[in-house]
Amino acid sequence: MTASSMEDLVSLCKRRGFIYQTNELYGGLQGLYDYGPLGVELKNNLKDAWWSSMVYERDDVEGLDSSILTHPNVLKYSGHEETFTDPLVDCKDCKSRWRSDHIEDQKCPSCESSNLTEPRPFNLMFKTNVGPVDDGTSFAYLRPETAQQIFTNFKNVIDSTSRVLPFGIAQIGKAFRNEITPRNFIFRVREFEQMELEFFVEPGEDEHWHDKWVQKRVDWWVDQGVEKESMEMIDVPKDDLSHYSKKTVDIMYKFPHGVEELEGIANRTDFDIGSHTRHQKEYDIKSNVKENNDSVTKLAIQNKITNKWTIPYVIEPSAGVDRGVLAILNEAYRVEKLENGKERTVLTLKPHLSPIKAAVIPLKRNNEELVSKALELKKSLQKLKLGRVLLDNSGNIGKSYRRHDEIGTPMCITIDFQSLEDDTVTIRDRDTMEQERLSISEVSNYFQNSFL
Ligand code: ATP
Repeated sequence: MTASSMEDLVSLCKRRGFIYQTNELYGGLQGLYDYGPLGVELKNNLKDAWWSSMVYERDDVEGLDSSILTHPNVLKYSGHEETFTDPLVDCKDCKSRWRSDHIEDQKCPSCESSNLTEPRPFNLMFKTNVGPVDDGTSFAYLRPETAQQIFTNFKNVIDSTSRVLPFGIAQIGKAFRNEITPRNFIFRVREFEQMELEFFVEPGEDEHWHDKWVQKRVDWWVDQGVEKESMEMIDVPKDDLSHYSKKTVDIMYKFPHGVEELEGIANRTDFDIGSHTRHQKEYDIKSNVKENNDSVTKLAIQNKITNKWTIPYVIEPSAGVDRGVLAILNEAYRVEKLENGKERTVLTLKPHLSPIKAAVIPLKRNNEELVSKALELKKSLQKLKLGRVLLDNSGNIGKSYRRHDEIGTPMCITIDFQSLEDDTVTIRDRDTMEQERLSISEVSNYFQNSFL
């Protein structure tokens, strides 16, 4: 059973320190959220899992971390200046604004009036001034996707790594979209993170790679604890495709508010690389840069056997980190009836995603001997670098167990007076609530094995 409502998740997130509204002190800013002490761990763990599967576990992908501020020409020639828009309508009665494809029966969701303006395109990109003079000429965009900076670094990466097709460039980072109606907690926000891979292939091999990546991405979400049954794949209809896409498959997830996109896998063809190559060439000519092979084939790759230059096709799996966090919290959230008639809330997160990997709890608060033994164990487990191990010196074991169930800590290790005598500890499993007594010398192995 996943979370019954978005309210359950929002409340858990705030109460336990996963996610807060940005600048709540001053009434908040719509569509912006901050990740608290546990949220930052969960989010980092999800990003690490993605990076590991996309970069470390493969031998055909390189990483990148590029600027957020983007040259206007990049987003002009990528087509974003012209087409990265949503249809905006105003309600003439209550003056509220809506995205027309998100409202039902073309009625204002706020006052139900049908007195709406015709939809008009609204560009979602944020602009900002660069440098001290704000005369409107020296501006940059906050990138609306991380992808463009991958395309503009394509040549740098192949020149410095000697890559041949097929290969990919992976990047995780912030993206910004001035959404008309941000909503549903962290699902649709104005500042978010994306995990994007641009995978470059020979034209003609694109459809095969597209199918392959769709399957790989679904399997990855399953490995993160998302049930296969909670996802569905849709072929984005031709009319709804982004301007650069030949085909897009969206992985849809049953969010608490409805079935919506978690990740999109697009076949971007040679649209972006081709466009940047053409315009880069114009730029070279205008700037009197001598035309040579290099500038003509700016964003192309040379086949080392045939010597032929190719502008590759691009397959792009693009996932939202924030939507991922929401899906994973939703999947893991359980309210269970206990034998004594009480209830417990538990997050059955996969251990590699849990914000706290293990809590070491001295049975009695501030008892020097217990605390020092607990600290010693905490330090030895922390050294394994599997994530955060917490010394929980709150002194109330029942409360600690409840708290750690609710935040998804896979195991609690209790140090009691017997531990001082025989070097054994009690390990309580989050999911089964079963406890077993282990020798301290066995704990490291037990802890490491819990990640397998
Ligand atoms: P939607 O149709 O829901 O607006 P999109 O098709 O515009 O999404 P893409 O451009 O494909 O989204 O972006 C790739 C991924 O980035 C999405 O699958 C999603 O996970 C994430 N994403 C996009 N927009 C937002 C947003 N406003 N807030 C949070 N995540 C987002």
